[in-house]
Parts: sequence; structure tokens; C-alpha cells
Amino acid sequence: MTPGEMEMVEVFTSEGKGRGLKAAKEFWAGDVIFAEPAYAAVVFDSLTHLVCHTCFKRQEKLHRCGQCKFAHYCDRTCQKDAWLNHKHECSAVKAHGKAPNENIRLAARIMWRTEREGGGLTEGCLVSIDDLQNHVENFGEEEKKELRADVESFLNFWPAQSQQFGMQYISHIFGVINCNGFTLSDQRGLQAVGVGIFPNLCLVNHDCWPNCTVIFNNGNHEAVRSMFHTQMRIELRALGKISPGEELTVSYVDFLNVSEERREQLQKQYYFDCTCEHCQKGSKMI
Ligand SMILES: [Zn+2]
Ligand SMILES: [Zn+2]
Ligand SMILES: [Zn+2]
Repeated sequence: MTPGEMEMVEVFTSEGKGRGLKAAKEFWAGDVIFAEPAYAAVVFDSLTHLVCHTCFKRQEKLHRCGQCKFAHYCDRTCQKDAWLNHKHECSAVKAHGKAPNENIRLAARIMWRTEREGGGLTEGCLVSIDDLQNHVENFGEEEKKELRADVESFLNFWPAQSQQFGMQYISHIFGVINCNGFTLSDQRGLQAVGVGIFPNLCLVNHDCWPNCTVIFNNGNHEAVRSMFHTQMRIELRALGKISPGEELTVSYVDFLNVSEERREQLQKQYYFDCTCEHCQKGSKMI
């Protein structure tokens, strides 16, 4: 399936949950409902020299960007593919003297893309970056403090020659990263190596007993030489039969957590009380 094809789903208002996605046709276990490339993604701070900044594969030998000496790539293909998104980052890292932390780098990548394409709807996206939820109004004192620190580091890093954004917009972007950032794993799926923003995936609501799962498709080892090598993307796949009109859901948290912990985490990070069938049954039992 081509990333960005969104014909098989529809945006709708899910009762009590705001926006959601529903199936526009029938799906069976394993079906790919949609594939989506990252709007923006970065490698975690601790792994920037161990994981390719384009395809997120962990490799023995990576080539370093000769300009900033910060970005690392498998090969020329990955380096070439990265340039559009790395160009501004590269000169900003050089000017700043070092790379800022992953949160700041991701926010900057999002804003350079917004500068390039505008914050409205882009091709293959059912929702724009401007329109994603940020939950900043739900932040507690501690989170507000962190947000202020992030905004300050961001402004230190952001070059004067790039488009300037207002405080409110910068806070919006950090809020979006906070509640919509999706963790990316390496090619074996064993280690969390980075974080990315996938706007369409953000529309999929949580359920503790979901009907879909997200696969981060780094390709496999055979794909290293193929044209798909650098095409980092996620796939939303059906876990079982889904009927047309049924809401598509994923689990935002580990189901192995007991229901109390799960509900706490959902409230703390995503600001909602789960009312899924499973939680309702669970709370009746307590
Ligand atoms: Zn690579
Ligand atoms: Zn560079
Ligand atoms: Zn639940």
C-alpha cells in the first residue's frame, strides 16, 4: 500500500472522545488499514551516533554528516534522503555549537516543515499539524515549568533567518509532541530509538481492548538495498475482523498494566478517563 492513501477510513466524531477514525470497509486480521510516513521524526539523544537519522536502523558503521558532525547515516542514500529535513537543522546545529535535546530537535523539524509547507492540510493527511490536540490547558505546574524550559531552549536554537513563530504556536507544538509523539523502534523492534509525529495516527483513539495495532515498518534486512530502504513509516493493521463503520482503536498504553495503573497513565499523559468496555467491566469488578 502506498503511504498516504486514506480512502479506507473516515474521520468522525466519536461520542465522548472527540474526533476519531472509522473503517470505510471491512478489514480482516493483519490487513493494512493505512500506511503513513512521519511528518517529522528524530533519533533519541543517547543514540544519535548509533542509529541512522533517516531510516532509524541501528548499524555498526554509520557515516557522519561532515558539516555538523551530529547527524549519522547508513550510506549516501540515507544521507541524500535526509537533506530536505536536515538542511536547516545542520546549519542551526553548527551555529549553536551543539545539538539541543530530542524534544527541541523534533519541534524544530516540525516548524521547518510548517515553514516550507504551511501548517494546514498536507497531501495524505486527514488532519493538519495546527489542528492536532495539545492539551496545554490541562498542564499542571510541573508540566508548565518544563514547557517554559523547552520554549526557552527552542528559542536559543531557532535561527533568526527562519520564519518566526509566536509563543502560543511554539507551545502548541510542544503540547502536540507531548501527547502525540509516537515511539519508534529499531529494525528488530527491540529497542526504542526515536520519536515521530504521524498526524493520521493521532486521530485513532485509545481502547484498552483495541481492534488495531501499529507496526513501525523499518523494512527488513533485505530492504537495505531496495528503493524502500529509506521509507520509514508506520502501518495501522487490523487485529481481527472490523466491520464498515466501526471505530478504529489502538492501545496507547501497555495492556499488561493492571487497569488502575493503565487508567492513571491515560489520565496523566493523555488527559482522559478511559470508558472503553473493558474499563467499564473492570471497574464494576472492583
Ligand atoms: Zn539509514
Ligand atoms: Zn549536518
Ligand atoms: Zn479502557
